[in-house]
Amino acid sequence: MNLYEEVKDALTIGIGGHIRPDGDCVGSVMGLYLYLKKVCPDARVQALLEKPADIFSCIKDIDEIHTDLTSDVETFDVFFALDTAAERLGDAQKYFDGARKKINIDHHVSNSGSGDLNYIMPQASSTSELIYDLITGRASAEEGAPDISRLDKDIAMALYIGIIHDTGVFQYSNTSPSTLRAAAELISFGFDFNRLIDETFYEKTYVQNQILGRALLESILFMNGKCVVSMLDRKTMNFYRAEPRDLEGIVSQLRNTKGVECAIFMYQTDILEYKVSLRSNGRVDVARVAEFFGGGGHVRAAGATMQGTFHDIVNNLSGRIAEQMKTEA
Ligand code: 5GP
Ligand code: MN
Repeated sequence: MNLYEEVKDALTIGIGGHIRPDGDCVGSVMGLYLYLKKVCPDARVQALLEKPADIFSCIKDIDEIHTDLTSDVETFDVFFALDTAAERLGDAQKYFDGARKKINIDHHVSNSGSGDLNYIMPQASSTSELIYDLITGRASAEEGAPDISRLDKDIAMALYIGIIHDTGVFQYSNTSPSTLRAAAELISFGFDFNRLIDETFYEKTYVQNQILGRALLESILFMNGKCVVSMLDRKTMNFYRAEPRDLEGIVSQLRNTKGVECAIFMYQTDILEYKVSLRSNGRVDVARVAEFFGGGGHVRAAGATMQGTFHDIVNNLSGRIAEQMKTEA
């Protein structure tokens, strides 16, 4: 796909990402937004997304994001859905559905493509890496070597944030030589990557640390120590004044437990409704587990929203997990 060819005649361009935007979602949306504003000076380019966490305030023009997604349906000439299929665009889905040209760019295996044009690359570390590929032309063989002169320091920083978040700072198995080559080019723009990693990835607020501790303390091992689960109900979240975004990282900490192959973390979103996060060391394909319950994701990281009591949900999940462990044993 030639990104510029697809947008050059558009007068209105919208860019959306998934609900509860994570680092890759914010990074890819902002990287593409900053780029399109530069190369399409006559078009009205808009980013439409739920409000990103404060840690991302270092990204240039992040305050230009339209976070009020209630306004009437506007017909965009081109609308991009990044890091998700249409269904998880939340309130921005109406803009995507109504657009003259819908472009879907994503790296989730579970996304079968909801655009007129789909660029779905499950082997890519992140959607931000895909935006890097598309902007620099690395995506198309005929363009040859990546042309990084199409980037600038601000775009590079946004994409770098996206990549470090989805790779756990180049730790997860989705990190490839191409990911590191992209990252190498990105840091050549001279931003303070060390500070970015600290302030957007590792740093936790006091509340985040407290709630992480609480979740670890109350976690339960099962299936002979191969699985671990922890849950936070509404009352506990209210007590700590924790928002869903304060819970990121809990599930991967659970997964770090010695002997654990599959970790489940869930927090209550309603009476008998939980947002479930799954992580695995690769033996269990948690995307398959999540898809069975209407969610999705990647082999090692997936999620879903599930109905029922805590015990119902753990029972249902462990049934699917045990089945995979049995066939793989
Ligand atoms: P997390 O556990 O961090 O919320 O999500 C892990 C991965 O699973 C992410 O790539 C995310 O996009 C995906 N994911 C999480 N929840 C859902 C969901 O409800 N539906 C789908 N399709 N994917 C999800
Ligand atoms: Mn992503």
